[in-house]
Amino acid sequence: MKLAVLKETRSGETRVAATPETVKKFISLGASVSVQAGAGDAARFPDADYAAAGASISPSAADAAQGADAILKVLAPSSEELRVFGRGVKLIAILSAYNDPDSVASYARLGVDAMAMELMPRITRAQSMDVLSSQSNLAGYKAVIDAAAYYGRALPMMMTAAGTIAAAKVFVMGAGVAGLQAIATARRLGAIVSATDVRFAAKEQVESLGATFVTVDEEAMKEAETEGGYAKEMSEDFQKRQADFVADHIAKQDIVVTTALIPGRPAPRLVSADMVNSMKPGSVIVDLAVEAGGNVELSRPGEAIETGGITILGFKNVPGRLAADASSLYARNIYNFIAAFFDKETKSMKADPEDAIIKAVTLTRGGKIVHPAFEAAEA
Ligand code: NAD
Repeated sequence: MKLAVLKETRSGETRVAATPETVKKFISLGASVSVQAGAGDAARFPDADYAAAGASISPSAADAAQGADAILKVLAPSSEELRVFGRGVKLIAILSAYNDPDSVASYARLGVDAMAMELMPRITRAQSMDVLSSQSNLAGYKAVIDAAAYYGRALPMMMTAAGTIAAAKVFVMGAGVAGLQAIATARRLGAIVSATDVRFAAKEQVESLGATFVTVDEEAMKEAETEGGYAKEMSEDFQKRQADFVADHIAKQDIVVTTALIPGRPAPRLVSADMVNSMKPGSVIVDLAVEAGGNVELSRPGEAIETGGITILGFKNVPGRLAADASSLYARNIYNFIAAFFDKETKSMKADPEDAIIKAVTLTRGGKIVHPAFEAAEA
């Protein structure tokens, strides 16, 4: 099986889908790997390290993809990139299929067997392949580091000869993978941390990290989790009561980190302009959901803005701001996925269409859309 690792082409994408470490593992498995020159540069993995790990370095995407059985990428390919893909090739990447259903139809038309890593099911067997978790974890950490960098004060309480500095108050909204890491990071930096979520299961996880859980209605929360472990969209009544309750809390915070997402839907709006304006000058808000529509009314994708002395950070691709670690974890997720279905005898990936993991991630196969959520896109 030949794997091709392409250089990401979207602006601002710093990550890469394989590292010298995973190349070495693929080769021990019995695969061959071709890496497009410069693919790892932005994540500080030089071509020479891929070559030392056993990859061949190809001058262009077309050369790398020539004769490949699978193409490994971080993000979905552009239409120009797709032109170099051979029919029957597997494409393994974060394809953002729900945001771009038309791309699913084009994979089918071009005979590309597309596997969307963001659709990995949340089952124990798939944990090591879960790219959303690995990337969210780093995003949660970086959100707090970014907030601390823009906050003109220290986070821990400090007792000095010149007097005492109070600890910063940090509020994390959405306590999934990113939120829990944001809580842990803010706690490590000495802040006083509180958090909220709509899922009841999050309460215990927040408290186990030493933060306070803030909620308006524990009973409503018991209904809020889907079987897959994600949040449901809450009723208008709940959202209104939650907003009133949270407004008082936000006014007392120094840093707010929002991470709330609902799969396949726009991010819930949790922080209104009035709530932003209720904060003290010097406060910082980080909206990690900015690319999904934003949890904060005033946040702008890709921008750090200041309004009334309050900074709102809407950085895009936050995991990509930690490109080396984000790539290492992403690359291991991809390796774990391929290795789980690798047949050592034929030295190729045997993806049983009935396997729960393969079923969940496969969008197209043999020129047809096979994922039930996108079948309508073919019509
Ligand atoms: P996510 O990125 O989809 O959403 C982030 C958080 O926002 C979630 O906790 C969600 O409940 C919360 N949220 C949604 N609407 C909200 C609102 N109106 N107000 C406040 N919070 C809101 O979630 P995620 O980080 O992917 O994790 C979801 C759950 O899945 C977590 O419990 C996580 O531990 C679990 N998980 C399980 C596995 C596994 O078993 N393999 C893997 C990863 C995550």
